[in-house]
Amino acid sequence: MRKTMVKYSNMLKVHNTLSRKKEEFKPIRDKKVNLFVCGPTVYDYSHLGHARTYIIFDVIVKYLKQKGYDVTYLQNITDIDDKIINRAKKLASEGKEDKSSFSAIALARLFEKEYLEDMKGLKVDSVSKYARATEHVKEIISQVERLLKKGFAYQIEDGIYYDIAKFKEYGKLSKRTALQAEDAVSRIDESKGKRNKGDFCLWKLSKEGEPSWPSPWGKGRPGWHIEDTAITEKYFGSQYDIHGGARDLIFPHHEAEIAQMEAISGKSPLVKYWLHSGFLTVKGQKMAKSLGNFITIRDFLKENSARVLRLLVAKNHYRSPLDYTDNLISQTKKELERIDEFVDKLSRIKTVDAHPQQILKGAKEEFEKAMEDDFNTPRAIAAVFEMISAGNSLIDENKISGKDAKAILSFLKEIDEVFNLIFWKKEKQETPDEVMKLVKEREKRRKEGLWQKADEIRKQIKELGYWVEDTKEGSKIKKI
Ligand SMILES: [Zn+2]
Repeated sequence: MRKTMVKYSNMLKVHNTLSRKKEEFKPIRDKKVNLFVCGPTVYDYSHLGHARTYIIFDVIVKYLKQKGYDVTYLQNITDIDDKIINRAKKLASEGKEDKSSFSAIALARLFEKEYLEDMKGLKVDSVSKYARATEHVKEIISQVERLLKKGFAYQIEDGIYYDIAKFKEYGKLSKRTALQAEDAVSRIDESKGKRNKGDFCLWKLSKEGEPSWPSPWGKGRPGWHIEDTAITEKYFGSQYDIHGGARDLIFPHHEAEIAQMEAISGKSPLVKYWLHSGFLTVKGQKMAKSLGNFITIRDFLKENSARVLRLLVAKNHYRSPLDYTDNLISQTKKELERIDEFVDKLSRIKTVDAHPQQILKGAKEEFEKAMEDDFNTPRAIAAVFEMISAGNSLIDENKISGKDAKAILSFLKEIDEVFNLIFWKKEKQETPDEVMKLVKEREKRRKEGLWQKADEIRKQIKELGYWVEDTKEGSKIKKI
């Protein structure tokens, strides 16, 4: 971190799915980090499971940047896929959209916009570049051509397929070669004429009415796995530092990426560190539309601040499963209130006499140690809460000077560059009239010196889900 933390230390360890071990993090080229995370298939609104993955990689990227690494964060947008084609067809057949104007691509553009809007709402702003699959068809075709030439791919009636039997190391990431029930499967990979059951589609020849692009084999569209390697090869070359994604993508998706790129380049490994995030379940169950427990990011943000979700995600280790419950949400909101209250108290300390205290030093060390250990965010967050407890006691005893308070605040600001959940700039969201009225009344009471009354009003505001902070510029309102 800027002044206080050790910059660009070599102590960072990350858990690599490829080796199943924590390894010392050393990028391929000095301080440069090329990182790719699988982006969304844009056919519907994103849900809380997606939110978890994208928040955690946002935190990881921001931490790496703070440590002095020069990170390029690339994400693809899958804007051509069976799911997109089918949903567009369904909408057109239901007459919800005009058949002639509502294409699969139009649907993809619509949900891409919604996805980017969700990311903005979650303050996920570390992605350097989004790359659409349909804008990399030239690169995709070039990869398929090279795979055919090298004998790793073959053509049958409905398209070009990858022959997994030709790639000797197939299965090295997932430690298996066959599909299992929970695997993310793409229907495009099904075909009767395949050599091996696990062979996957690289280029599918299009049926009438489907979106298509010209290719040496006829009009068609890319398979799912090939877009990622075509995109990463273009921007990063044949080898890069980190590939992230949710763990359900390990097989067959990420396994296929390795098979494609390493076969093309002859270089291994495609990716130095594979980082996979755990599942998010809702009350113990997998999120599914059929179970009625499907929570979109959009719906969550209608009721809650994104700060809640960011803290919830950070409180859990990225590799562990996270079970979402209403209790967990209310508990997280209380924790945010504790942070807000602490920040507010610190900002009001005016005392000048300094009382040396160790809490800040201890918290910084703990925080750093935790983050360096495979981004152990729950331990890092716990260190912050321990500091808040100790700090609150010292404030009560009048033992924190204005200078100490400033130092603690600046530490909180530093860690917030990574977690992005404490100091939010004034939000555009509209504060309800009811809350605004109370805020104004409270300001009035404060001016009159009626502190007790002002505190009572603050409690009322809190019950409505808002937090008021007193600053030199007046009251600041935050949604809890
Ligand atoms: Zn992907």
